[in-house]
Amino acid sequence: MSWHVLGAGSLGSLWATRLFRAGVPVQLILRDPQRLASYRQVSGLTLIEQGQTSVYPIAAADLSDQTPITRLLLACKAYDAAEAVAAVAHRMAPGAEVVLLQNGLGSQEEVSALLPGKRCLVASTTEGAFRDGDWQVVFAGQGHTWLGDPADNTPPAWLSDLERGQIPYTWSPDILARLWHKLALNCAINPLTVLYGCRNGGLMPHHEEVDALCAELVQLLISCGYAQAAEQLHGDVWRVIEATAANYSSMYQDVASGRRTEISYLLGYARTAAERSGLQLPALQSVYQRLLEHLDAHGLPRY
Ligand code: NAP
Repeated sequence: MSWHVLGAGSLGSLWATRLFRAGVPVQLILRDPQRLASYRQVSGLTLIEQGQTSVYPIAAADLSDQTPITRLLLACKAYDAAEAVAAVAHRMAPGAEVVLLQNGLGSQEEVSALLPGKRCLVASTTEGAFRDGDWQVVFAGQGHTWLGDPADNTPPAWLSDLERGQIPYTWSPDILARLWHKLALNCAINPLTVLYGCRNGGLMPHHEEVDALCAELVQLLISCGYAQAAEQLHGDVWRVIEATAANYSSMYQDVASGRRTEISYLLGYARTAAERSGLQLPALQSVYQRLLEHLDAHGLPRY
């Protein structure tokens, strides 16, 4: 059974190339005939890993293709996920499954609402990749991927494809807790790195502000039913800041490169969840407002 990979960007290419080279059938779905023509001008997707460059001639089609889909890897940004899935929803075969690689929360609900009766599995990854040009991806950080299904804890049969592709993963019965914990980490670190224009380690002098955000995010996690994730949050935030002191956060990189951020699926989602729970979180609200002003000043979308 073939994997369809929708979104041949950084993570989508990283998954597609590793599956393909292990002999797992893979096809790329590109957004339009122009992107398909551009892909066809090169010999395939290029993966650069530990200084080694390999090209993989993976089959591709654009969104007008009508081949049925049984296994879809959705690898676009959170803000593109619903629109991308809507364009292929009619092609989903009975019993089709979708794996959602989007960061943050909110896009998963948007996608599953468009695919009634289809299994939507969610993933959270610490792997890192970036595009070094069109159709070329650099595997920048080894990591691990957790996969789960909030609606059904039965592991899918295709996990063996990930083993063949040497994609390190763990089947996670508490995937939502993991996504929430990552969202909270992200909310405590990323917006402040944008506002202070610094690497993660540059937040050390701003410890009072980080601690205030952590305290509010702990309240939020508890009120949403993730007490265990809440317990670890404060220590984990400082561990991440120290361990990745020299790195720029993904949100910092998006803003610095003039790219749209995933704010609505990170801080925006946290803020809405707090409102729904009747929580007053002034530090979170203040960072959100300042971030919106910063995005305005840089001509970037507020959502
Ligand atoms: P990316 O490099 O920007 O790739 C997104 C891809 O989706 C692009 O190739 C884009 O196509 C494609 N796309 C968007 N809408 C489409 C549509 N309607 N039809 C077809 N293709 C469409 O993004 P990424 O870095 O891989 O990130 C994907 C998700 O993974 C994000 O939520 C991100 O936060 C998360 N994540 C990424 C990393 C990482 O290291 N990169 C790590 C952890 C989590 P075009 O090429 O035509 O623009």
